[in-house]
Amino acid sequence: MDKLVKRAADDIGNAGNVAALTGAGISVESGIPPFRGKGGIWEKIDPMEFAHIDTFMRDPVKVWDVLLKDMKEIIDKAKPNAAHLGLAKLEKMNKLKTIITQNVDGLHQMAGNTDVIEFHGNFAWQKCMKCGNRCETGKVDLSRIPPKCKCGGMFRPECVFFGEMIPPDYLARSQQAAARCDVMLVIGTSALVQPASYIPVIAKENGAKVIEINPERTPLTSRVSDYLVKGKAGDVVTDILAAMESS
Ligand code: NAD
Ligand code: ZN
Repeated sequence: MDKLVKRAADDIGNAGNVAALTGAGISVESGIPPFRGKGGIWEKIDPMEFAHIDTFMRDPVKVWDVLLKDMKEIIDKAKPNAAHLGLAKLEKMNKLKTIITQNVDGLHQMAGNTDVIEFHGNFAWQKCMKCGNRCETGKVDLSRIPPKCKCGGMFRPECVFFGEMIPPDYLARSQQAAARCDVMLVIGTSALVQPASYIPVIAKENGAKVIEINPERTPLTSRVSDYLVKGKAGDVVTDILAAMESS
């Protein structure tokens, strides 16, 4: 068995309170491309341009056409993978208390986790920019872009665009979860998007062990994280759970 898988299984086994910070990488095995890295959306478009609130306000048709329509189709089809299901199992084992996710795909909740902070909002709901009316994304008429509310206002997804603030209560709850955990799992995030990448630093400063799961190194590796278990999220989480069961 991989030494680091065993170490992670022991660290989680000994912890009373585990938190997880997840990013786009955890959903790659569910068929959702990440922004950065191999096969990432970045290879085709610049998300800093297309997922920026200024671009959306200036040219909503372009953002819906190039980014949001595709995202909706991909997210609609996606199912939780072994990593999401493994985290749900860790919650049932009473180890994992809170997931802070940067993802907008809703897959952690679909897997069964109950305390999920959607740091960057979600793509499941749209909000009218004029009257504030909310509508499930699946029920919004996309035959006309941009989609419109009955009042004539434009719908926007309830996710946080680049250039927008993280809802303050999400930020506060994430900081609390990071400060009180004994182990933080950092799974599938490039740790380049602020302020999400600061969450593991808070965990570390409060004495938690920080374990990264990612096929690649990130700016957190060696500096903030105690160690990196290299590999795909689904494989590594499955191996860690198997190691916990066999010890
Ligand atoms: P990112 O795209 O910047 O980085 C993805 C990370 O995942 C990289 O470090 C990569 O090495 C790693 N990775 C790739 N395949 C993996 C696998 N199989 N298992 C584990 N790790 C893997 O992602 P980010 O840090 O989350 O930042 C991007 C932002 O874009 C997020 O804030 C999020 O809001 C948004 N986004 C969300 C989704 C989604 O909801 N699924 C998808 C794309 C982008
Ligand atoms: Zn409206």
